[in-house]
Amino acid sequence: MQHRTGGCLCGAVRYVLKSEPHTSAICHCTHCQKQSGSLFSINLFVNEADYEQRGQTMVFEDKGDSGQPSYRHFCGHCGSPVITKVAMMPGQVIVKAGTLDSLDGIQPPQTEIYTDRAAGWLELVQGARRFARSP
Ligand SMILES: [Zn+2]
Repeated sequence: MQHRTGGCLCGAVRYVLKSEPHTSAICHCTHCQKQSGSLFSINLFVNEADYEQRGQTMVFEDKGDSGQPSYRHFCGHCGSPVITKVAMMPGQVIVKAGTLDSLDGIQPPQTEIYTDRAAGWLELVQGARRFARSP
């Protein structure tokens, strides 16, 4: 398999995924809305060992509903959100799907969370499991 690649808008941060994401989820929470400047984020979960990054990200320490920190990594030059690491999920890297160079073969998200915050006119993904908050 050819490894997936991605990076921020300006190219200062680049990464390689050495395996396919094992899960994907759309998050409609207000923090993802604020950070992305859009209405939701599409998160791809990969094992930390399979994520290789070149270039430094800046980190914003956020806090989830659980009270546990989540570390939102973004490019300090262009501002693209790139990955998040969550204290509750050690060993996992959550990659923002929009930073991939190609979406070819990426499956639709299996889960949508924080749907109680989703814009009312958004079509939800067919077949996805939905949670008003987190699972
Ligand atoms: Zn950048």
